[in-house]
Amino acid sequence: MRYTGAVMSCLFCKIVEGSIPSTAIYQDSDCYAFADIGPQAPTHILIVPRKHIASLAATSEADAELLGHLVTIAAKIARDKALVNGYRVVMNTGPDGGQTVDHLHLHLLGGRHMTWPPG
Ligand code: AMP
Ligand code: ZN
Repeated sequence: MRYTGAVMSCLFCKIVEGSIPSTAIYQDSDCYAFADIGPQAPTHILIVPRKHIASLAATSEADAELLGHLVTIAAKIARDKALVNGYRVVMNTGPDGGQTVDHLHLHLLGGRHMTWPPG
């Protein structure tokens, strides 16, 4: 595989390929889920596509199936973690959205009551 500069320097690409360690929660041929290093809730898991996509803003209709898969995996992990009282799934997107890692990811947060609006 030929890597572009963005992919070579991407933290989550390195986590997906295993060159940076992480605590695996779930994986399949299209996605990888791992524990967030700075948990904001008792359960805080990141779900990322194996292929590099910079953000939700970089997606198109061609990514619809993959995006749907990521969301359904978030729900599956929430069931596996017995988050019966509910949870929050977040995709921070771009600078105003608070995105700090430029590889698309879903946050799955649970185990405490969430407030609204977010900060
Ligand atoms: P965002 O700010 O939405 O881009 O989310 C990036 C998330 O990645 C933050 O919640 C960080 O705590 C998390 N993070 C950063 N580095 C690592 C790492 N090496 N392993 C696991 N999570 C990480
Ligand atoms: Zn990446």
